[in-house]
Order: sequence, then C-alpha cells, then structure tokens
Amino acid sequence: MRAYVPSYQLISPANLPEVLDLLARDGEQWKPFAGGTDLMVLLEAGKLPQRNHINIWNLRELRGIEVAEGHITLGALTTYTEVQDHEVLRREFPMLCQAASETGGIAIQNRGTLGGNIVNASPAADSPPALLAYNAELELVSTRGARWVPYHSFHHAYKKIEMRRDELLRAIRLPRATKEFRHYYRKVGTRKAQAISKVCFAGVACMNRDQISDIRIALGSVAPIPIRCVQTETALLNQALDPRTLEAARATFAAEISPIDDLRSTRDYRLKVSLNLLEHFILSLRHSI
Ligand SMILES: Cc1cc2nc3c(=O)[nH]c(=O)nc-3n(C[C@H](O)[C@H](O)[C@H](O)COP(=O)(O)OP(=O)(O)OC[C@H]3O[C@@H](n4cnc5c(N)ncnc54)[C@H](O)[C@@H]3O)c2cc1C
Repeated sequence: MRAYVPSYQLISPANLPEVLDLLARDGEQWKPFAGGTDLMVLLEAGKLPQRNHINIWNLRELRGIEVAEGHITLGALTTYTEVQDHEVLRREFPMLCQAASETGGIAIQNRGTLGGNIVNASPAADSPPALLAYNAELELVSTRGARWVPYHSFHHAYKKIEMRRDELLRAIRLPRATKEFRHYYRKVGTRKAQAISKVCFAGVACMNRDQISDIRIALGSVAPIPIRCVQTETALLNQALDPRTLEAARATFAAEISPIDDLRSTRDYRLKVSLNLLEHFILSLRHSI
C-alpha cells in the first residue's frame, strides 16, 4: 500500500555544515536522502518508517571523482553512470565499473549513488564485493570532524553498520594498485539485467611464476553482510595452482560462507554457484602465468 505522502517531510539544506548541524542536533529524527532509489521503493510500499529526510543530492562536498597518485576518491553521491564513464576507474577498477553496469537499469544508474548502496547495507548489493576486494575505505563526517574507516569493518551484522547517528558518508577511497592484478567479477541473478543477485563474487589476485602471491575474495548474498573470505585467501596464498590447492580452497570456502534459503534462491544453489565461481576464478589465474 502507498504511503500517505503529506505525512513525510523533505528539506534541502544549502551546504554540508548545515546538514551536519541538523544531524548533530537530531540525528534520530532526520535521515539523508540521496538518489532515493532505495527510499522511494519503501515509500511506495508504505514501509518507510522514517518521516523526516534531508535532501543531500545537491551537496557539492559529496560529489566528484578525484585521482591522486596513491588513490582515487569518489564522492558518496557518485552515480553508477559516473563510475562507468570514468576512464581511470574503467582501467584500474574494472570490477566496480562492471558492478555499476549491472546495477538496475539506465534510470537507476543515473540516479542511484555508491554512498546509498553502501549505507543501505543490503547483503545482496552489487558494489560491496568489488569495494571489499579493492580494500576501499570510507570517510564519515560529522560536526566532530572526519574519520576514515576500512570498508571491511563497516558492516557489523545484518543492516548494522559502523556509522553514528550524526554521521554522513562523504567519500569512498580506493587505493591504486602498484602490482598487476587479475580482476574477476560475476553477478548471478535471475536475468541479465534488473535482477537482484543470488550470488555476487569479486576477486583480485597476483601471480608470481606459478604461485598466488596476493589474493582478495569478497562475496554478496552468501551471508548476512557482504563478506571478505579471509580464510579462503589464506588457504590460497603462496600456493601453486594445482588440484590439491583447489580442493583445500573449496573446503575452506564452503565453511566460510553461510548462504540461506530465501525468496530469491536456495542455500544449495548459492553454495554450488559460489564454489563454481571460486574455481573459475582460480583457474582463470592460469592465464596470468
Ligand atoms: C528498480 C531498481 C533496481 C535496482 N537494482 C539494483 C541492483 O541491481 N543492484 C544493487 O546493488 N542495487 C540495486 N537497487 C538499489 C539501489 O538503486 C541502490 O542501492 C542505490 O545505490 C541506492 O542509492 P541512492 O542514492 O538511491 O540511496 P537512497 O535511496 O537515497 O538512500 C539509501 C539509504 O542510504 C542512506 N544514505 C544515502 N546516502 C548517504 C550518505 N551519503 N550518507 C549517509 N547515509 C546515506 C539513506 O539515508 C538511506 O538509508 C535497485 C533499486 C531499484 C529501485
């Protein structure tokens, strides 16, 4: 059932300090409204509990993609279209661009933001696995100042995140790699487009001769939060690409993820697909030797 729209309020402060003041005074009552692509679905369904929203779409401080020598910083309001259009991101962070290109349709890509995707904290979202595999960091700002948080420690539990009531996500920082990585990203959904993931896999790795010298693996839709598979990474690090390594990695990986049955898929299907993707990723590293 549709919500009763007049019972909601949306205000548009002129700048970041005004937004932060409002959040500092009453962060319980006011919530940011960025592209609105998640919030409007809740509103339409009559399931948006929060009545008061702050329109942050026009904040210049949350926009832009800056390229520095060691990292790239994306404003939280960066849209999926802007991610895909950015030449350096396309070259150095192809998994993030692929995630952006497979998120919703064109309208969602023009309006939905990376910051909204992160703070909405869905375990089935498509950019988090890529952000985890790229060791992203988040800048959280409030009237008390700014702090950087590693993205891998941002999700505590289902929809519980490392963000205080008075904080806003300002930016996402991606360290630029100094080595040649292989990038592997797969979203598995019901359709090729406009589908929510059943499993989403992101992996990067480096080879030194026939051994894996660096590896990061992250997944969505296989646990209550987007996860980095650190134990599987440890099982693969400094190992040769042989059947024994693969078997050990599969066993560790199966124990590390915890997919469930829900309306989009089953536990068994998700487990099987995740294992297949892990194997495909590892075997694809042969081409880098
Ligand atoms: C038809 C459709 C298809 C979709 N397909 C996909 C898909 O394939 N993959 C996928 O991952 N998602 C998908 N989505 C979900 C959605 O588009 C994304 O999660 C989007 O990135 C949300 O960004 P937004 O700016 O619209 O967030 P909003 O709806 O504005 O906000 C979402 C949440 O984040 C908070 N928030 C937003 N920005 C900030 C900030 N800077 N600081 C603090 N809090 C903030 C808001 O308060 C709210 O709680 C889809 C949505 C629709 C409607």
